[in-house]
Amino acid sequence: MIKVQHLSKRYGDLVVLKDISTEIKKGEVISIIGPSGTGKSTFLRCLNLLDHPSSSSIHVDGCNILDKKADIAKVRQKMNMVFQSFNLFSHLSVMDNLTLAPMKLLGKTRDDAEKKSLDLLRLVGLAEKANSYPDELSGGQKQRIAIARCLAMDPEVILFDEPTSALDPTMVSEVLSVIRKLAQEGMTMLIVTHEMSFARDVSSRIFYMDQGLIYEEGTPEQIFDAPQKERTRNFIHRIRSCVFEITSPDFDLYALNGEVEAFCDKQFLSRKTRNKVLLVIEELLMIYKPLLETIALELTVAYSEKNETLALVCESGGNQCNPLEGDHLVDDLGVNLIKQFSTDIAYGWDGDKNKITVSMQATRGV
Ligand code: ADP
Ligand code: MG
Repeated sequence: MIKVQHLSKRYGDLVVLKDISTEIKKGEVISIIGPSGTGKSTFLRCLNLLDHPSSSSIHVDGCNILDKKADIAKVRQKMNMVFQSFNLFSHLSVMDNLTLAPMKLLGKTRDDAEKKSLDLLRLVGLAEKANSYPDELSGGQKQRIAIARCLAMDPEVILFDEPTSALDPTMVSEVLSVIRKLAQEGMTMLIVTHEMSFARDVSSRIFYMDQGLIYEEGTPEQIFDAPQKERTRNFIHRIRSCVFEITSPDFDLYALNGEVEAFCDKQFLSRKTRNKVLLVIEELLMIYKPLLETIALELTVAYSEKNETLALVCESGGNQCNPLEGDHLVDDLGVNLIKQFSTDIAYGWDGDKNKITVSMQATRGV
């Protein structure tokens, strides 16, 4: 369906895309992940001819779209794009947003265009909003309208550039559900996303982009569970964990709890798991509190999707001593509670730091 050969793109002296070659088959769903600023958007924009690559060929259905004779409007119809910021026409009703391009560019009659648009609005669950204006809709609704508008052009490929990044967390799943449905129906899609669980579920392949390249690619299992290259490994590890530096007994517990909650939500952990994590962290911090007068604590919360486990890692300086057994403990209540909620508690000394690792079962879903 798509064949990219030696695609590169530079802005002045800045080389954004170095040398990208890849092939994408019909019906494939590719999620593109990677740190920001690595050219993910630029890659999609080059495919859609919103940016012009410096050199290469891009064949879509056997036709080189970089050829001067290529019909840009036709290319964009075949390979339509959905943006992070929706890009709806605010002065047009939802229906007019959907029918405009099919009437103008595909030569459809208003009747035909409206009929098809209504079907698409039903598909994304928003037929009731046909006569509303974009400003009257939530972010999630706007993005679903943008997807319907994209589908109105009968594309063969859809390019999504972070379709949920501008949304409130509560609205992410309604948009992802629509994309999931398209995947089930066999739509070919390239999706730049930070939603890793979604990417794992929905994709046939994952592209990890870094350093202007598709640095590593593979099945979701290969990339998320067993990345081969160092930068991929670091990235995957980073998105699976959050780290807190706690340097005094007067640290901001509310802010920490908020971040832990957001992290759990992002990993789609259940409410029960989230509450368990918050409770264990609170107990751990109570135990460490007297120590925090003199030493700093680094707390890492890491989730392993593969094993469905969470690890709470507490690293602290000071003398070699198990912080869960020291003289500073008032009683065993906290430690017992932690034991009750965990599957394992390990203590280690690496010559420099005391390290407690509390492992616990983590379930996903509501
Ligand atoms: P990503 O989507 O992975 O975050 P982008 O493709 O948006 O990355 O950007 C890659 C790099 O290209 C960034 O360093 C960005 O600053 C630069 N860049 C993007 N668009 C332009 C532009 N129009 N002019 C100059 N530099 C740009
Ligand atoms: Mg981007």
